[in-house]
Amino acid sequence: MRKSNKSYTGIDCFRMIAALLIIAIHTSPLGTYSELGDFILTRVIARAAVPFFFMTSGFFLISRYSYKSDKPVAFVKKTAQIYGAAIVLYIPINLYNGYFKTENLLPNLIKDIVFDGTLYHLWYLPASLVGGVTVWYLVRRMGFHRAFTVSAALYLIGLFGDSYYGVTEKVPVISGFYALWFQVSDYTRNGVFFAPVFFLLGGWIADCKTSPKQTTAWTLSALMMMLMLAEGLILHHFQVQRHDSMYFFLPPCMYFLFQALLYYRGKRHVWLRDVSLLVYIIHPMMIVVIRFAAKALHMQTLLVENSVVHFLAVVVTSVSFSVAAAVYWNRFGSGKKKKQTGIHRAYIEINLDNLTHNVKVLCKAMPPKCELMAVVKADAYGHGMYEIAAHLNKIGVRAFAAATVDEGIALRGYGIRGEILILGYTPPERAWELCKYDLSQTLVDYGYACTLNAQGHRVKVHIKLDTGMHRLGFGVALDGGTGKEMQNLISVFSKKNLAINGIYTHLCAADSLDEADVLFTRLQITRFYKVINRLKKQGIHIPKTHIQSSYGLMNYPELKCSYVRAGISLYGVLSTSNAQTKLRLDLKPVLSLKAHVVLIRKVKQGDSVGYGRDFVADRDSRIAILSIGYADGFPRILSGRGQDVLINGQQAPIVGRICMDQLAVDITELSNVSVGMTATLIGRDGDREITAPAVAGQAESITNELLSRMGKRVAVTNLGNISKFS
Ligand SMILES: *Cc1c(COP(=O)(O)O)cnc(C)c1O
Repeated sequence: MRKSNKSYTGIDCFRMIAALLIIAIHTSPLGTYSELGDFILTRVIARAAVPFFFMTSGFFLISRYSYKSDKPVAFVKKTAQIYGAAIVLYIPINLYNGYFKTENLLPNLIKDIVFDGTLYHLWYLPASLVGGVTVWYLVRRMGFHRAFTVSAALYLIGLFGDSYYGVTEKVPVISGFYALWFQVSDYTRNGVFFAPVFFLLGGWIADCKTSPKQTTAWTLSALMMMLMLAEGLILHHFQVQRHDSMYFFLPPCMYFLFQALLYYRGKRHVWLRDVSLLVYIIHPMMIVVIRFAAKALHMQTLLVENSVVHFLAVVVTSVSFSVAAAVYWNRFGSGKKKKQTGIHRAYIEINLDNLTHNVKVLCKAMPPKCELMAVVKADAYGHGMYEIAAHLNKIGVRAFAAATVDEGIALRGYGIRGEILILGYTPPERAWELCKYDLSQTLVDYGYACTLNAQGHRVKVHIKLDTGMHRLGFGVALDGGTGKEMQNLISVFSKKNLAINGIYTHLCAADSLDEADVLFTRLQITRFYKVINRLKKQGIHIPKTHIQSSYGLMNYPELKCSYVRAGISLYGVLSTSNAQTKLRLDLKPVLSLKAHVVLIRKVKQGDSVGYGRDFVADRDSRIAILSIGYADGFPRILSGRGQDVLINGQQAPIVGRICMDQLAVDITELSNVSVGMTATLIGRDGDREITAPAVAGQAESITNELLSRMGKRVAVTNLGNISKFS
């Protein structure tokens, strides 16, 4: 796997190369020397440049998991602004060219603004807008595979109106279609046919967990480039090209090139993205400037007629201008400051690398062929269901469990694929939603199974057996799988609206290694398998089976099932700090809880702090007020219990009663504490760590409750993969 916390140096740098290639297209550096050389450089090799720009945009914009439209909206806004500015910038040149004197000015103007650009190179910006928005929408609607089919089909249509038009022209009906299209736009190389496939490939690469090896990627991209070269030369030879932007081998070549460049990770060069775009926009202006200057200075032979010098002159002027503009813009232009850390008053930091680690550890502990079902109920135990589930799905987790139908629908809204099991009761009237969002429902007992079946929507279900917890489940296992209950269970398998994909039970004392509890758990397990065997004897095909949750896996790792439903262990913690388990897994906590010092005050000996004057200073003290309270999920019961928080790597005890939105800590003994500093309530700061199970223990609860009650207004920030998703 690629290192996730480094920036995309390779991508940033290649954008610059791409910009120079585009200058080459418009200046033909080899023009004076070799017609063939010029064709190869500008009509084939340099054709990689614009697709690369599209792919970069797609890489940062297109994601199956971008359910909020804020990203595309920001992209459209920014691109439209740039396009608007570029149109205005080139009005003088349009005037000079006599653009505004053309007949049918208005239809032409609309056509150019929407498809072709008001100057030859500006088509890229409307194509970005149209292509980006189209693909974002397609991927949301139908996922990557089908969206790829659609955009590849569009590309093919474009191809036959571009490099292969000479072939198309000979087929009457089809050429009619293209003739129509060419009324709308001068080319097929635009946002409808050309851009989508590249946006899509960029996004797909970003979302996909597998990638070719570096050498493979380089080799294949070089091979594709060779094939494209051959393709270009053949088409050129037979003169079938109407225009020469689109080749069969261009998309695969770009795909492997991009994958190869992703291996170059390190320093962030975001400024190169600005500079390369500016070079793109400004270089035609520089071409004009150089022509004028050459005329004025009588240096046309050198500056214009020598194609290499001309190219270099345009490069030097365009790059200098763009760097200067970018520096100016960053210093004086945009009022926007860099994203600050610490802008949230109280926040959760999740470490996705630790989450990945925990998934690996759990999967290794499971028997072969057993799959992880990630339990993400209750907002992923307070960690933020979107961030957690999207990451898990990306790293290959294919099964999820939620508590409610609404949680399941939310998961689908986030773009999560695979099995989603609803563990709790869903009102039967909502069967159509289970069906619509492809959710699997737990059958909580026989009566429920009948009602759900009667709704008339075919839903996927898992049967739950009560083996001793006496919460949800068919009672069949309790009497050894005999009698009426067994008949009921068997009949469920033939109900026409229930697609039975699983059968499971839940252990209620799997966390305990006490002899009596172990005996009871073994009884539960025996009861479960007894029913399974009876079903088998009836000739019923046994669907997926699952028994263990986190402690079930850690204390009974040998059970052979299809799934382990892991919740708390996935988040890298145990329920209590003194837990004894048979397997000791090397789990890493995913969540940290943090707030800020908003105020520091001195209180005199004898002064009290907070509600009810519970805390009275027994010496002159310094008190820091933190921006977090019980409404944020930090339990009020921790008041007056000497619970510490960490500031600047040092421990500070909580004093007085915890308020709804604030709490106070004693920092008399701490050094170098100032307003604005981060306070860690759960997590690590320097050498010290406050663990969630320890805090939960102090609060007379378990980690599960502490975490799942994290408040709604606590922001979730994401430590891992920052560069990939920002
Ligand atoms: C919550 C839940 C789990 C997950 O339990 P953990 O102890 O957090 O791993 C598994 N199964 C069912 C039925 C649950 O309700």
